Amino acid sequence: MLRILVDEDKCIACGKCEEICPKAAKIWKVTDVARILDLRYCHVCTICAMVCPTNCIRIVRPGEEV
Ligand code: SF4
Ligand code: SF4
Repeated sequence: MLRILVDEDKCIACGKCEEICPKAAKIWKVTDVARILDLRYCHVCTICAMVCPTNCIRIVRPGEEV
């Protein structure tokens, strides 16, 4: 199963992941920290992880070690 892990200690709630994600409304909710709502809509483009200024998003594909 696909997982997207956000290191909550490093997240500064800038909202860039949510801004850039093509399916943001279904996937991301950024309040005090960025949280994932539903990954069924994620097509693993990885741009959220690329734009995150603190490098706190980790995309773990099915079969990869966490
Ligand atoms: S881009 Fe990174 S630091 Fe900014 S809200 Fe998203 S997870 Fe947090
Ligand atoms: S990998 Fe792409 S579709 Fe999935 S959450 Fe990140 S930006 Fe959105």
